[in-house]
Amino acid sequence: MKQQQKFSLSYYLLVFLSIVLMESIFFSGTAVKEISYSQFRNLLTDNRIKSVIIESDRLYGLEKAQALDENHSDKNSPIFQPPRKKAPWHINFGLNRPKDSQRVERQFVVTRLDDPHLIADLQEHGVDYRGKIESHWLSNFIANWILPMGLFIVLGSFLARRKGKGAAGFLDVGKNKARIYAVDPSQKVTFDDVAGVDEAVEEVKEVVSFLENPQRFTRLGAKLPKGILLVGPPGTGKTLLARAVAGEAGVPFFNLSGSDFVEMFVGVGAARVRDLFKDAKAKAPCIIFIDELDAVGKNRSQGAIIGGNDERENTLNQLLTEMDGFDPQSGIIIMGATNRPEVLDPALLRPGRFDRQILVDRPDLDGRMEIFKVHTRDFALGPNVDFRKLAAETPGFAGAEIANVCNEAALLASRKDRQAILQADFQDAIERVIAGLEKKNKLINPHERKVVAYHESGHAIVGHLTAGSDPVQKVSIIPRGIGALGYTLQTPLEDRFLMSRTELLGKIKGLLGGRAAEDIIFGDVSTGASNDLEKVADIVRNMLTVYGMSEQMPNRSLVEKSSNPFLGQGPSTQRRSEDLEALIDKESQTIINDAYQEARKIVTEHRSELEAMAALLLEKEKIDGQDIKRILDENQNNKDQAAA
Ligand code: ADP
Ligand code: MG
Ligand code: ZN
Repeated sequence: MKQQQKFSLSYYLLVFLSIVLMESIFFSGTAVKEISYSQFRNLLTDNRIKSVIIESDRLYGLEKAQALDENHSDKNSPIFQPPRKKAPWHINFGLNRPKDSQRVERQFVVTRLDDPHLIADLQEHGVDYRGKIESHWLSNFIANWILPMGLFIVLGSFLARRKGKGAAGFLDVGKNKARIYAVDPSQKVTFDDVAGVDEAVEEVKEVVSFLENPQRFTRLGAKLPKGILLVGPPGTGKTLLARAVAGEAGVPFFNLSGSDFVEMFVGVGAARVRDLFKDAKAKAPCIIFIDELDAVGKNRSQGAIIGGNDERENTLNQLLTEMDGFDPQSGIIIMGATNRPEVLDPALLRPGRFDRQILVDRPDLDGRMEIFKVHTRDFALGPNVDFRKLAAETPGFAGAEIANVCNEAALLASRKDRQAILQADFQDAIERVIAGLEKKNKLINPHERKVVAYHESGHAIVGHLTAGSDPVQKVSIIPRGIGALGYTLQTPLEDRFLMSRTELLGKIKGLLGGRAAEDIIFGDVSTGASNDLEKVADIVRNMLTVYGMSEQMPNRSLVEKSSNPFLGQGPSTQRRSEDLEALIDKESQTIINDAYQEARKIVTEHRSELEAMAALLLEKEKIDGQDIKRILDENQNNKDQAAA
């Protein structure tokens, strides 16, 4: 995008310059002086006029050659006035410089007055005169309009051609601004350039294979994804990944940013979307990539509260319409990227739109190692460079920050005139980047990291050992990741068709396992559990009021029917009494207390496993279900042996 801005700026500058230039050629290039009629009359009487061209409204004259250094040269003659000061942009091309500094013939122009004696006087002084019927408006029109316009267009098209297809040209506001990535082999991005986000790469590989051979997929009637949304924190390589897809697939790639749609002119954004899809359909199979989707796809209802933005809304509506309007078999894949999925309009995420989301999260230890390798591929590295150590010192760094570290290290090494970049250079570079991040308050300290590791391990252990709770698939403590401070991925509740009371209680225990572990290890609890507690409260409340799982009020739905303001207080209105609310609160607390005690018990009984898991997490930052199972099995074996 930066390049495009530069381009249009230089374009307008050029046009401006050329207008100034033309103006100076056409209107001040020849030293034609405008003189008054009386001055003209004086010159005539003094016999100093050589020839005159008479036009309907003015006279062009040529003065007789005069020696400039003559003493008697009339200083008051308008023709010998010192040249008027020109604005600095008037460029002198030598056209108005007298060829012979000694002898000059001056041209002048006079506005013609109604002078019946003119011809007679000219005759009398022997002036060569002739008339000329000239269509002034035409020459003026050509000089003032056609030529500049022509220059505009020639320049515009020249620049557009030089910049390659798709560059914004003159007068195409509202036209599709997307740049098609030429698959230039010299700067092609491939999957080799993207490291540390292997799962995301695996998922987009599917897109590539679809684009390479759409028939293979459509043959059996398989449904293809229409829209793929890359979601992740800034700098994790979403844009890079999209470009790699284009590079690998070798298909046209329409690349533009959400902010490109949002223009100040009404209707331009929507027109641009229409145009984009028209172009894409003509070029299918192809990819449309909308970076920073949130710029155009912000929740419409949210916008309405703060005044709304009709233009953006129109654009978004047009985008939705276009996405619905094309056949997934047509071979167009739309990719979007955002680091703020929460602000997106829900309509964008519905089936048939961006219905597949790919998480591009911050890399773990191994991932960071790989990224260090990618960005030092072309470096001369000293023998002591240890990528694992570097990765260990950069927890929470995204790809962009690691790229930054590598660049900084290379700079430091060159400044010291080294032949190769040493580990120390990298370490200095990391310190600099960390200092920058600390200023932005973006790093968590080692103690917090430890708390998070135990908290997440607590979830994993309780979740694993509780009947009904889903087995934990993945635990991560990568700081600043999409799940705030680490997340424990479990199969989501919504995927289940039915859940028993035991399962719900198991889920609650798993959720409380995090806080229980903190409590046991540190003797204190932190704010990190707020999200867990919210979920617990939701589940418990639903158990008691929706599913009739209360012990004191079994099998009774206590769902509140909200009163409809338009229908009045009809019979369907049902509010819970205060007594009932108190009962629900009390039973909720009992359920939560019991679950918490059980979670604490499980954690206490498996403290060694908890320690082992937290240590592994602190080391690797991300562990999966197999790691968890292995730790639990190992410790179980140890216990069995000890017992035997
Ligand atoms: P995002 O779009 O997610 O904000 P970018 O794709 O713009 O991030 O990343 C910026 C730069 O950081 C990339 O051009 C690349 O040099 C580097 N980078 C980011 N993520 C990765 C990664 N996973 N692997 C290698 N380099 C990366
Ligand atoms: Mg980006
Ligand atoms: Zn938690």
